[in-house]
Amino acid sequence: MTKTAIITGITGQDGAYLAKLLLSKGYSKVIGLARSTDKGDFERLDFLGIKSDIEIIACDLTDAGAVESIIKQYRPDEIYNLAAQSSVGYSFEIPSATFQFNTLSVMNLLEAIKKIDKSIRFYQASSSEMFGNVALQSLPIKESLLFHPVSPYGISKASAHWLTVNYREAYGLFTCCGILFNHESALRGPNFVIKKLINTAINIQQGKSGSLTMGNLAISRDWGYAPKYVEAMWLMLQQDTANDFVICSGTVTTLQNIILTVFDKLGLDLNTHLRLDSAFMRSLDLGLIFGDNSKAKKELGWEYDISTNELIDALIQDELAWIDWMGSKKNIK
Ligand code: NAP
Repeated sequence: MTKTAIITGITGQDGAYLAKLLLSKGYSKVIGLARSTDKGDFERLDFLGIKSDIEIIACDLTDAGAVESIIKQYRPDEIYNLAAQSSVGYSFEIPSATFQFNTLSVMNLLEAIKKIDKSIRFYQASSSEMFGNVALQSLPIKESLLFHPVSPYGISKASAHWLTVNYREAYGLFTCCGILFNHESALRGPNFVIKKLINTAINIQQGKSGSLTMGNLAISRDWGYAPKYVEAMWLMLQQDTANDFVICSGTVTTLQNIILTVFDKLGLDLNTHLRLDSAFMRSLDLGLIFGDNSKAKKELGWEYDISTNELIDALIQDELAWIDWMGSKKNIK
């Protein structure tokens, strides 16, 4: 395959898994855009063994001129826009920066495609957080449901989503939004709840940590496995027509249930090792939310058949490998 793809947010969880997927499909060039090339945060690419196969370019996505010149120079077939301030919690602390980056970056990419080459296909990382607190009768969430975001992050993603749809409808660009529900892996940022839970639980088991502190255990989410979700991103850009898709597991689990399962699998006692702290609670959090992936299954042929129990097993195995790898890196230094 002689395709060239640009991935923004290459240093993140999805950027790393997607880059690996595109390389495995024989893309001739996978270009990763990062805030800087010398920041050195390419651990995820290193962990997956693909760092040297990717051309990393520094680009400020809020600088329209910089975005244009990279697209002019590399003329990609596909652009996957994964860069975003992606933490809901942090978006309450830096609402303006979150909104600015998460929308302006998308506008600059779409404008550049419109000006330079309308045949470039564009994927936008939309989010289930755009739906916010939905009424029970609206569940499971489908593509057609109206948004009502309840965080600066959700609002920024909803704006970016509509920008992407608008450039498809108004200018005929091939733009797709993947409306992804929470997806996890060992490559997730350390502050995200499932990563934190599994990493800390393993550290407790290995005697390196005493306890796990959590906030609201009652939250229910539709959690899935990140390496499977990036397959859906790629599939969207291979279709004859551009469209938007909900990508989710279709099942819902409480955080409490995940904690119980992880502790049980690792042989840890809940009473000894789990602490609750209201400081970890959000003033406004989503209630019950889960999605319907039938459109993606039918139209993209995307398959997701991982149960919650299998997901937790995979996350524990991956986290063990990550912890080992991080340990061996420290020993080499
Ligand atoms: P992630 O691990 O947090 O990665 C985010 C990427 O965006 C990183 O490469 C980060 O670069 C970059 N970024 C953040 N702020 C930036 C800024 N101001 N300037 C330039 N780059 C910036 O996120 P992810 O889990 O891979 O998610 C990928 C995309 O999917 C994101 O847009 C996220 O909002 C969306 N999404 C994720 C989920 C999920 O469950 N994971 C669900 C729905 C949607 P640095 O390394 O330099 O910080």
